[in-house]
Amino acid sequence: MKLLLVEDDALLGDGVRAGLKQAGFAVDWVQDGLAAKVALDSEEYDLLVLDLGLPKLSGMDLLKSVRAKRASLPVLILTARDTVADRVAGLNAGADDYLVKPFDLDELIARLNALLRRSAGQVELTLQHGAIELTPASHQVRLAGTDVSMSAREFSLLHTLLLHSGRVHSREQLEQTLYGWGEEVESNAIEVHVHHLRKKLGGDLIRTLRGVGYVIDKAA
Ligand code: CA
Repeated sequence: MKLLLVEDDALLGDGVRAGLKQAGFAVDWVQDGLAAKVALDSEEYDLLVLDLGLPKLSGMDLLKSVRAKRASLPVLILTARDTVADRVAGLNAGADDYLVKPFDLDELIARLNALLRRSAGQVELTLQHGAIELTPASHQVRLAGTDVSMSAREFSLLHTLLLHSGRVHSREQLEQTLYGWGEEVESNAIEVHVHHLRKKLGGDLIRTLRGVGYVIDKAA
């Protein structure tokens, strides 16, 4: 899952980015509102985590411009100002959720997973597909009731394909989803992850559409 983090506090931003990466998110981090606007215009994101007090362009103004273009992008705002008026203004401007600083990283991750579920129209905490179960909150994959270990990127790839089953993802889209800026992507990285997932979960789960991309068909 690809996430844009907009936070001008260097210490906080660095800590949050590291924590989210460890939780399997591909994170791009920018430190002002204008850089965020550029990033949102040029990349596809699954989530936006937005500080309200930002240089150059305020989080609230950025949020309004985001909502004018992409109504469905899940947005969580971070606010240092624990006043009801701020939170209400943020939610009214189109935020889906908020956290008041200082916050717990685990709570942020749990809320982001909840937003992803909701944006995919999924209510259950566990994604189920035949004998496969994937639980984002605990980072767990089971096959016929048995835990299957996998790397953070394999998990993220499986999560993306399961969450949007029936939709074909191109290799480029998957690379964007799995890797943040400045992270080196081997040309065959996605093929390698898919190969490992097939070995662990069965050869017919992920279908290759030659020259188009990859899909997990909707469960029968
Ligand atoms: Ca700030």
